[in-house]
Amino acid sequence: MVMHSLRCDGSSRRRPPGYPSSIEQLYREALERRAAMVHRLYDARITKTLNAQRRPSETRQDSEEEDIQAVITAMLSLREFIREQFAPDEEDIRDLALKLQLRTLDYTDKKLARVARVSVLPPYVGGPDVIDAFIRENVALIKTIDERYHDEVAKLMERGIREGLSNRELTRLLDEGFRDAGKLSPVDGAKYNGERIARNQMHRLNGQISRLRKQQLGVRQYRWRNMKDVRVTGNPGGKYPDATPSHWDLDGKLFDYAGRGHPIDGHPGQRPGCRCFDDPVLETDSKERLQAYDKNTMESAERRRQANAALLGLPGDHKVPLTL
Ligand SMILES: [Zn+2]
Repeated sequence: MVMHSLRCDGSSRRRPPGYPSSIEQLYREALERRAAMVHRLYDARITKTLNAQRRPSETRQDSEEEDIQAVITAMLSLREFIREQFAPDEEDIRDLALKLQLRTLDYTDKKLARVARVSVLPPYVGGPDVIDAFIRENVALIKTIDERYHDEVAKLMERGIREGLSNRELTRLLDEGFRDAGKLSPVDGAKYNGERIARNQMHRLNGQISRLRKQQLGVRQYRWRNMKDVRVTGNPGGKYPDATPSHWDLDGKLFDYAGRGHPIDGHPGQRPGCRCFDDPVLETDSKERLQAYDKNTMESAERRRQANAALLGLPGDHKVPLTL
């Protein structure tokens, strides 16, 4: 139930223009499936250990420490097993990053071509290092979800055994946690962490590729833009009026693509939770450079087309595909 309301909240957030929400959703769902799988493994291992340790309905006040020890030992060996057998798949993460890159480039290029009034832009040549850094960081982050889940379960089991819960009640704790704690259960916590990671990481990569692309095209500066809603930090009428730095106040401020952005929060989308985005300032000289490139490319394509038409003995105005 808690997850349900969190998820609704998550998907109702406004996103920057062109933000590939569907890719974020793919990532979120993959992390959710992973959390559910880890959860099932823990559930099975703990149930088995408890049943071997004490009869299902019996609680053994006198041997708490022994029971706790047995469960923790079983959990530690399972954690090793998961680390070895279910390490986050780098190729899956690369695939996700490349999907996002494709969508982000498609949006930035269409928008920039419209502003510069051109039909062709120079090809994107950049940043395999951006993707590689993303993979490394996300492998590490996914491991933190498992670690936190493990720590939460260990705490619950220790407390549950000390409170004299039965085996059945103990395994139920895995699904529900202690209701009094006002906290998510371990598995819901893991899903929530995954959701947060998917969101922050996708916003960040989207911003990185967007900025890299514009820099490659010779655009030097951008205006910071926020989503103009209640979640923007520093919005006097919003949820975080006193947050600093205020992204509300940053709206419209000029930054260099080649620079470090804001001294504390960096470029738009870098700080966790930030949905701000860069709005490129296309100066006359960069616009003219793009237009010159467009003109050259279109002219040489036209020359190629005419040459091919001549080669095939077709009249000059005959439509021959440019790809010939
Ligand atoms: Zn922001």
